[in-house]
Amino acid sequence: MTLDAALAELAFLGDRLSRSAAVLGHHGQSETHIRSRLPDAVVFPRSTSEVARIVSICAAQGVPMIGWGAGTSLEGHALAPCGGVTVDFSQMDALLEVRAEDMLVRVQPGITRERLNQELRATGLFFPVDPGANASLGGMAMTRASGTTAVRYGTMRQNVLALEVVLADGRIIRTGSMAPKSSAGYDLTALFVGSEGTLGLITELTLRLQGQPEAISAAVCGFAEMGPAVDCVMTTIQSGIPMARIEFLDTGTVAACNAWSGQNMPLMPQLLVEFHGSPAAVAEQAARFGEIANSFGCTGFRWAEAQEDRTRLWKMRHEAYHAILASRPGSTAIVTDVCVPMSALAEAVEETRADIAASPLPGPILGHVGDGNFHAILLIKPGDDSERAAAKALSGRMAERALRLGGTITGEHGVGMGKLDYMAAEHGAAWAVMEAIKTALDPKGLMNPGKLVPQQ
Ligand SMILES: Cc1cc2nc3c(=O)[nH]c(=O)nc-3n(C[C@H](O)[C@H](O)[C@H](O)COP(=O)(O)OP(=O)(O)OC[C@H]3O[C@@H](n4cnc5c(N)ncnc54)[C@H](O)[C@@H]3O)c2cc1C
Repeated sequence: MTLDAALAELAFLGDRLSRSAAVLGHHGQSETHIRSRLPDAVVFPRSTSEVARIVSICAAQGVPMIGWGAGTSLEGHALAPCGGVTVDFSQMDALLEVRAEDMLVRVQPGITRERLNQELRATGLFFPVDPGANASLGGMAMTRASGTTAVRYGTMRQNVLALEVVLADGRIIRTGSMAPKSSAGYDLTALFVGSEGTLGLITELTLRLQGQPEAISAAVCGFAEMGPAVDCVMTTIQSGIPMARIEFLDTGTVAACNAWSGQNMPLMPQLLVEFHGSPAAVAEQAARFGEIANSFGCTGFRWAEAQEDRTRLWKMRHEAYHAILASRPGSTAIVTDVCVPMSALAEAVEETRADIAASPLPGPILGHVGDGNFHAILLIKPGDDSERAAAKALSGRMAERALRLGGTITGEHGVGMGKLDYMAAEHGAAWAVMEAIKTALDPKGLMNPGKLVPQQ
């Protein structure tokens, strides 16, 4: 590759091309155990045409290109293992159009989900996908993110209607439309959602919105054992109660959250639940859930009716990852992310708990159990090879278990560099089909190399 030639042509960006150590360092590190891999340069485009020009220059010079939203992905997705140019979308963060009557919004990829919802507040609408971290909408689309509310509103897969994408050769295409559905050929929107920047760079998204619920109620309820808590979730989902959120925290996670957020939850497995709807519907859902929870031995409810109480509750949940990291000072984490069919949830969680208990590592478990998705946060000392090996072995067994039970190795975080080892087991010959799609759209292998597809 001729990096110098590409950088000379990219000089049209002026001070929006950076090679400072601080900027490269920021764009070369991940949130988790995956070691830093720095790009050679970072660019900050402001328009689709600038992105297309950047891509054309890099493609002609054979320079890798890595999209960057907010850098919150957990599997080293946005690192630069082959060097190259990181395209940071933070200056393409406009809300382009709100179509309230269609319940749609058009945005640039760098807008964060918190800012989008702040700007939508006066419309009575909101964007529901909530991965906790204040991620960008472009990054969330690229990891097919979900989070606490997916059980009710779906993931990015259901909530992205259309995209504008700059392909690896600099062509600009639009996928999808503003219609609620379409049968017009291959579903390219679905192909790009979850492609982790390996097929092209997103420059615009059309997203579905939801009406803000008239009434919201949330609660925390404890259980003496993990088993009944998980069984309660399975029965609740199978009974068709439209839960807006139903989150599980094991005792280790509860202890970490209490210490981090100044909460005083009883030290036992807890479910965090939320109901959305009309006042009557919320009351009815809460009563039905209460009956089920009581039948599984729930030790009592703490309700969060006021907005500020709910804000505190979900802030605590969203900070659980950092709370768990702080529970073992100086540690880093291998974050697991399996997802199984609802009927297999109890078996998957219980086997995982026993496996971690028999290991030398702390590994608190938490998850969006309402859609079969849970995480063990395996805490390791940086540089300790035996701990890393133990954590990798546990993570591998979780992946095998999820596949044996009919599930997936990653429910929401994606593949990046960290989950590549399990892709063949999950997809078999279909992984080669993904590689063929990658080769068709990016024959030079320049879009986010080292991620998602088989590595040569
Ligand atoms: C504390 C914490 C909690 C989390 N909880 C959840 C959770 O509950 N659910 C969940 O789903 N995730 C969760 N995550 C992971 C995370 O927030 C996501 O993976 C997020 O979707 C990534 O968005 P981002 O803007 O940070 O993207 P980045 O990390 O910047 O990038 C992610 C990927 O998208 C690519 N990319 C970014 N923008 C573009 C673009 N415009 N065009 C092409 N490619 C692009 C990057 O190259 C990379 O491959 C959590 C993370 C943290 C730190």
